[in-house]
Amino acid sequence: MATVAEIFQSMEYGPAPESEKEALGWLAKHERVFGHFIGGEWTEPGDVFDVINPATNQPLARVTNGTAADVDAAVAAARAALAPWKGLAGHARARHLYALARGIQKHARLLAVLESLDNGKSIRETRDIDVPLVARHFYHHAGWAQLLDSEFPGYEAIGVVGQIIPWNFPLLMLAWKIAPALAAGNTIILKPAEFTPLTALCFAEIADEAGIPAGVINIVNGHGDTGAAIVNHDGVDKIAFTGSTEVGRIIRKATAGSGKKLSLELGGKSPFIVYDDADLDSVVEGVVDAIWFNQGQVCCAGSRLLVQEGIADRLVAKLRARMEKLRLGSPLDKAVDMGAIVAPVQLERIRGLVKHGVDEGATMWQPTWACPTEGCFYPPTLFTDVQPSSTIAQVEIFGPVLVTMTFRTPDESVALANNTPYGLAASVWTESINLALDIAPKIKAGVVWVNSTNLFDAAAGFGGYRESGFGREGGREGMWEYLKRSHDGLTPVVGVARTSRKASSRKAARGAMPAIDRTPKLFIGGKQARPDQGYTKRILSPSGEIVGESPEGNRKDIRNAVEAAQAAAGKWSRATGHNRGQILYYIAENLSARADEFADRIDAMTEVGAKLARMEVDASISRLFTYAAWADKYDGAVHSVPIRGVSIAMNEPIGVIGIACPDAFPLLGLISLAAPAIATGNTTIVIPSAPHPLAATDFYSVLETSDVPDGVINIVTGDRDALAKTLAEHDDVEAMWYFGTRDGTRLVELASASNMKRTWATWEERNWLDAEDGEGREFLRASTHVKNIWVPYGE
Ligand code: NDP
Repeated sequence: MATVAEIFQSMEYGPAPESEKEALGWLAKHERVFGHFIGGEWTEPGDVFDVINPATNQPLARVTNGTAADVDAAVAAARAALAPWKGLAGHARARHLYALARGIQKHARLLAVLESLDNGKSIRETRDIDVPLVARHFYHHAGWAQLLDSEFPGYEAIGVVGQIIPWNFPLLMLAWKIAPALAAGNTIILKPAEFTPLTALCFAEIADEAGIPAGVINIVNGHGDTGAAIVNHDGVDKIAFTGSTEVGRIIRKATAGSGKKLSLELGGKSPFIVYDDADLDSVVEGVVDAIWFNQGQVCCAGSRLLVQEGIADRLVAKLRARMEKLRLGSPLDKAVDMGAIVAPVQLERIRGLVKHGVDEGATMWQPTWACPTEGCFYPPTLFTDVQPSSTIAQVEIFGPVLVTMTFRTPDESVALANNTPYGLAASVWTESINLALDIAPKIKAGVVWVNSTNLFDAAAGFGGYRESGFGREGGREGMWEYLKRSHDGLTPVVGVARTSRKASSRKAARGAMPAIDRTPKLFIGGKQARPDQGYTKRILSPSGEIVGESPEGNRKDIRNAVEAAQAAAGKWSRATGHNRGQILYYIAENLSARADEFADRIDAMTEVGAKLARMEVDASISRLFTYAAWADKYDGAVHSVPIRGVSIAMNEPIGVIGIACPDAFPLLGLISLAAPAIATGNTTIVIPSAPHPLAATDFYSVLETSDVPDGVINIVTGDRDALAKTLAEHDDVEAMWYFGTRDGTRLVELASASNMKRTWATWEERNWLDAEDGEGREFLRASTHVKNIWVPYGE
């Protein structure tokens, strides 16, 4: 045996295994076979599949593959539990969430070991990161349950939610999904990943012990088919999914037009940007946490190391030295840095992509120490000489593989960082706070960590841009994903009565108008533009009178409008809130000067009566004032996260937004949608009311005289659904709003899957005249992303 003196000489680690006894005991209690957890009961095991420990390739348990009938039963249980659960006082739900947090803490070690056995991740991470964060999520959301009525007035639970989670953070993803859903008053069907179902089952038992009412949380296991059955079930009101972009896209298409609310947390290829003044020793530890944490199986892993040219060689040398010291081995050894990859298929995928990288000509480096050959292990891997366009620089590898590229200037670093279809997270390393805070907003990602990486907390929202999905988890912003307006589906107080107006008064009004034939064009890039195909459509009033003509835009016009909106986007997003507000006031002023003319036009087109038409114009002016007011007031937040530092939640414009307006309220509908979008810094392509487009075409000259920069509002008239589909398919349109029919909603949601753009599509009518229904924070939220920028401080 080695003496203490000898141990000090070599400083070798001895094994420090965590006991698996309790976890195996828990499995044995269940005879290592599980049914589902539905309506507060375990179902009899059915058609089972094996759950394997990836570190040993030995089976751990057998779990039932959920059938459509199992999903039916779970949805029925959740539906039955909904009214009583939603009806509980916020305080009562808060106590339930608190009990869950306590239950997690009581069983923390069991959960940590079980997670490690099931997933292959190190006990150090499950014990010190995953499980404490799980408890933190339930505590934090107990708070939101308590504050629900006061902080989210006018909103209520969506209903029965289906949640589908991946295998990389099985219990943590469960908590991210379940805690906010419960706090808001929803009931749940959750499907864990087939590789890692065990901690969810253990959680079901803990929830039962904690007294969560039967049916509020239902756990159904199974493969992708089971997930699909949940997604497609008519009794589910919302789907929350975390996983691959590929499956996210399938789910987007499957739910299109169903009215189900959707949030997607998908893949990433996140940049880790190092400037030449960074503290390189901290950077090295940052890289370890960015890409070797959880074996790199992290959606926000810093998998692209972007280094300023002058320090690249020095950093790579330091990294290699550090990689030589990483320890990889049994996940239950408390002193390992890296455990096992989740499953053989994932290991093969990593091997395949690494080989591809080598074949593509990049230089691959791995430490000299030998990786275990039994079990699913893969060594930390570093690529240099990587081309930005190569597969390994573009594709999510989801393993411990880092690719390195260099840049010369900060501008180049931003271009390289954004050269990805994803936009989940980024790390920025520099000792210059000016540089860090200049770069952070320029990176298209939902989370930016300054001199840090992979920081998560229940108080700060997490989620992506672009193909990384939409929606946020955590914080106030995450709660919105599980709430809906309590007065959904209102019938407008002022219906679109087509025949209410008296013909005589209309004639008198129209008699006052100059009888000059006006043949409107489209409005693109600040100019009135002839439509590509030169067709116009005759616009009739409901009683059949000819009111005028309007051009029929087509996909080329949309293309031009998107180009104009894109060209204007950068400058407009950087305009100050004050400046944007001023322009909105100016539009209101110019509209007000022509209020009579607009009222008359609306009346002529819709025959709603002079009084109502005038109300519409007045409401439009007031709405412009509302968003002029908001332009410098839609503040972000500083989240209270448990680090020495701050997490700044910034409301950022989404970019280019396509807007298909409702048929009714031809002027007010347009202004209610375009004004919040531009107030928050977006540029827009607007498709006005298809039957009544002339208020929009009259509006061109208001825009022209109101200092609206070219391209900020572009207007294309024509067939709303066809144009909306084109916009939804366009990869340079970053969000699509659609207020039309159910068929159109489906069309838009389906088409949006091309670049996974955010959609706000609905066939529900709104009372646009109503201040609650037609304006406010709901519109501002739809216009913005929340970016969380984490800034630790201290010497
Ligand atoms: P998936 O996206 O396939 O799996 C995520 C979850 O969705 C699992 O519960 C899965 O079930 C379920 N699922 C699969 N197909 C469907 C479907 N058609 N409808 C509804 N649910 C479905 O990820 P994989 O596990 O297959 O991993 C593949 C790749 O995805 C990884 O290599 C990685 O690149 C990426 N990934 C990204 C994650 C992230 O957080 N960004 C997380 C996990 C993976 P089941 O487990 O039974 O297949």
